[in-house]
Amino acid sequence: MKTLKKTLALLLAAVLTAAAVTGCSSSSSGTDSSASTAGSESSEFDASTDKYLKDGVFTVGTNAAFPPFEYIGDDGNPDGFDVALIKEVGKKLGVDVEVQDMEFDTLVSVIGTKIDGAIAGMTINDERKEKVNFSDPYFDAIQFVLVPKDSDIKTTDDFTGKKIGTQKGTTGDYLVQDMDGVEDVQYDKGIQAVQDLVAGRLDAVILDKNPVETFAAQYPDDLKALDGADFNFDTESYGIVLPKDDQPLTDAVNKAIKDLKDDGTYQKLIDQYFNN
Ligand code: GLN
Repeated sequence: MKTLKKTLALLLAAVLTAAAVTGCSSSSSGTDSSASTAGSESSEFDASTDKYLKDGVFTVGTNAAFPPFEYIGDDGNPDGFDVALIKEVGKKLGVDVEVQDMEFDTLVSVIGTKIDGAIAGMTINDERKEKVNFSDPYFDAIQFVLVPKDSDIKTTDDFTGKKIGTQKGTTGDYLVQDMDGVEDVQYDKGIQAVQDLVAGRLDAVILDKNPVETFAAQYPDDLKALDGADFNFDTESYGIVLPKDDQPLTDAVNKAIKDLKDDGTYQKLIDQYFNN
């Protein structure tokens, strides 16, 4: 009797072990629990031990003059899609988020000192990647051209001899700097360029698509927006900017972005801030 019990127990154990093994392999190839289960359980991000977030606050820089991604809201604080997105990322990481408004072209240089990260419609590019980490892309963009309503600018050739306003240190600024025979007039804020365009001091302004569309809608009688694809401008991708020496933080932010897409929060914010 004793031996039979023992044999049965051993048999049961063997069956359970086999079930566990097959169960494990079938679940990782089957349902939603793909890469995120096995790997990240052990490498789960712990903000309290993170070099930058251990104080419980994720201090994030932006330039709140880039609607609808960032702008100063009615209450005087930064608001916009990026601001809302980074607050949701903070919730996933278990930290408070403090957004600081600063000049766009200083953001990269103060990551890791003044600020723990930045979200500013910032295009991922190799030059910046030498100094900072970028999250996975969270939004696709392209440069657009804003011109007076009666302008006959249609192709890149039409820019020759013209004065084009840009925001200093942006991809639009670099694009215009690379054009021959074109005067690049740099501004701290895109809206200042737009105001000079309305006042007749510029022939065009080149900025990212969504801000251009927002500004064009603010001056419907004066301005029109032209699609950068018609000028063969490259597509760009925005990334959240993070310190170069904190890969665990970058990984955790990537996971947060993915989770926010999977759970519908990302789409909810798109619907909220891009009401075209
Ligand atoms: N996407 C552009 C860049 O990264 C502009 C960003 C901005 O003006 N906030 O340079």
